[in-house]
Amino acid sequence: MDLGPVGVVAAGTGPSSMSGTVHVPRLEPVLADLVTGDLAGSWIPGICAVRFSPAAIEFSPAAIEHLAPGAGQRPAGSDEKMSLVARVGAMRAVTVIPGQQGSVALTDMPEPPDKDGPILVQTQAIGICGTDLEIINGEYGSAPPGQDRLIIGHESLGRVAEAAPGTGFSPGDLVVGIVRRRDPVPCGACAAGHWDMCMNGQYTERGIKGRHGYASERYRIHPDYLVAVDPALGILGVLLEPATVVAKAWDHIEKIGRRAAWAPETVLITGAGPIGLLAALLATQRGYRTYVVDRVTEGRKPEMVRRLGATYVPSGDLGEAAGRADIIIECTGYVQMLLEAGPRNVRHRITCLTGVSAAGAEAAVDPGLLNRNMVLQNSVLFGSVNANRHHYELAAKALADADPGWLADLITRQVPLDQWDDACTRKPDDIKAILNFPDA
Ligand code: BGC
Repeated sequence: MDLGPVGVVAAGTGPSSMSGTVHVPRLEPVLADLVTGDLAGSWIPGICAVRFSPAAIEFSPAAIEHLAPGAGQRPAGSDEKMSLVARVGAMRAVTVIPGQQGSVALTDMPEPPDKDGPILVQTQAIGICGTDLEIINGEYGSAPPGQDRLIIGHESLGRVAEAAPGTGFSPGDLVVGIVRRRDPVPCGACAAGHWDMCMNGQYTERGIKGRHGYASERYRIHPDYLVAVDPALGILGVLLEPATVVAKAWDHIEKIGRRAAWAPETVLITGAGPIGLLAALLATQRGYRTYVVDRVTEGRKPEMVRRLGATYVPSGDLGEAAGRADIIIECTGYVQMLLEAGPRNVRHRITCLTGVSAAGAEAAVDPGLLNRNMVLQNSVLFGSVNANRHHYELAAKALADADPGWLADLITRQVPLDQWDDACTRKPDDIKAILNFPDA
């Protein structure tokens, strides 16, 4: 019995004296189809109660859990000999029509296809970042080929629901999905697992470029792109993906730094959002004297910086920090100030840009002076985006070594899925807003 894209497929034979009720959220559209054969259905808004006649089907506890996480009830009087196949054909997901502002919605999307991988993950939480807001504003992102809608969400935390043997994962594992997939050619970088450095641009990114993201109740994935998270981190595991961005930045800064003998002491981070604060966390973990500059003068951001043992600098006061820093990590996308400040007397300065800005900013930078400073001081200015598996591992270690109370304070809002639009709207005091999925 196939009830189409949204439905329950059930099969079972043999005698049974079972009858019972299982609560299945969000099946209203298929109830008409269920009132056939052995099944009889009725529902109330939001909850669907499917009743089974005595000759019907057993739902195993695992299947009930799959159908209605946390809400399933095993039907009374079930017969162990009964077989079962049960599947919900649709799930809720936050989606957009890329390029179309105002199209973001909580929509029903088909179940993740088996071809996505042998591991089924139940989403726990999704972090919302500037890239998501750009996608929601219609400025960035693309749907999978042939589809109108893109499921957003690339900062994820989930729990394994099903894992085929030999995948290295087990049901219950806390996991984070990697964002980028190697290009299909693949280029030399992707072939080496350095998909963050893809050379032909044909890579895809879950929730961003040509591939559905993780802001759905469930997703499937291949173990090559799944990372186990220390269960002790709990919900803080949702910070892993943003931490990978700065773990890569640090990895490349250190690789560049190995070009010559170098003993950096001072780090300047521009921006005290989640990326800036995580970059500062990794700077203090390395023992550097760390400055963080941001526009705000009060509230949680300056306090978070001080709790790291770093120095908070209001943006008008950049002078000393900019003049001393051996390493700068730019996390705002507004680079004019830094370019104008120039490397001056700091030798071997390495500046890493991680913020993405819109084109068209006007600034009076003297290119001659910039060139002179960069050359005479052996300085490096480079951009960094995305992360490969190695960076997920570095980031997991950095989070495990951090003060969990400090990490928890990075998450300023937790919003239930039903209020998804609230999570997707930036509030003045936000550092990181996350969307909680029902099972979380
Ligand atoms: C994500 C990266 C991604 C980049 C560009 C960022 O928000 O964290 O994984 O590569 O956007 O799409």
